[in-house]
Parts: sequence; structure tokens; C-alpha cells
Amino acid sequence: MLNPKIQDALNEQINAEFWSAYLYLAMAMHFESKGNAGLANWFRVQFKEEQAHAEIFINYVVSRGGRVVLKPIAGVPEEWSSPLAAFENTLEHEQKVTAMINNLYALAEECHDYATRGKLDWFVSEQVEEEETAQGLIDRLKLTGDDGLALYMLDTELAARTYNVPAPLQTAAQ
Ligand code: MG
Repeated sequence: MLNPKIQDALNEQINAEFWSAYLYLAMAMHFESKGNAGLANWFRVQFKEEQAHAEIFINYVVSRGGRVVLKPIAGVPEEWSSPLAAFENTLEHEQKVTAMINNLYALAEECHDYATRGKLDWFVSEQVEEEETAQGLIDRLKLTGDDGLALYMLDTELAARTYNVPAPLQTAAQ
């Protein structure tokens, strides 16, 4: 039986992951409209990953006999002043998600819910990766500056990103 406090926090996290998906889809659509197909592709993959994060939490709540409550997804921005601004927004957002995961981890410890704490380990590592990737792209874009050719090359590189089903969902499918 899932502690009601943990269940509420997991439902908040599910909503946050869907909001993340919505944010990155908005960025993808922004870059589609600007003709940056590679950036758009990168954010479309990010969109799918965030949906997968929500699904991992959904599957977990179900596996514990809990109740998933799907809350409304708040609105997201529509425009970013530059690719750099979008990745700075991405990093800032992922830092907030990291804090949420850490709070959830602390709550699981407080409630002696070690199953939930264990489930969160993958997300703790995932957040390190999310922040590192966003920071890396911010650094690249700062080097790129106003160089159109360098941005074109980065866009081409980001066009190659493909979606891989995250490990916890692969396990669930077996
Ligand atoms: Mg996420």
C-alpha cells in the first residue's frame, strides 16, 4: 500500500514530467517555425523522453496498487529569443526537476518507503545526464556566437539524435 503522501508526490511528479514534455514539444515547434530542423528534432526526442519518464512513474504507482491522478497540464512558453535561450531555459527547468526528484527521495526516506527510494535512483542519475547535456549545449552555443555556419553544423549534428526507450520501460516490456 502506497503512503498517501508519497502517492500525492508521485502524481505531482507525473504532472511535472508531462509539463516537461509539453515544454520541449513547444521548443520543437518553435524551431520548426524557424527552419532549424535539427534543433526541432532534438527537442522532439526530448519530448518523447519526458513522456517516458511520466510513464515510468505511472507504471510504478500502478504496480504499488496506487491511484494515478492525471491533473491539468499548465501552459508553456511559445517563443525563445535564440537557441541559446532555449537551452538555458532547458537547464533551468531540469534543475527544478532535479530538486523535485530530490524532495521525493527525501520524502521516501522520511516515510521509510524504500521501494520508492530505490525506484528514484534511476531518475537521480538521469537528472545528472539531463543537466550535463543542457550545459554542454549551452557551452557549444556560446562558442558558436553569431556564426551561422557553426550553428548550421550544430543543427545538422542535432538532427541525428534518435529516441531510445529508457531502461526502466524496456524492463517493464519484458
Ligand atoms: Mg524528466
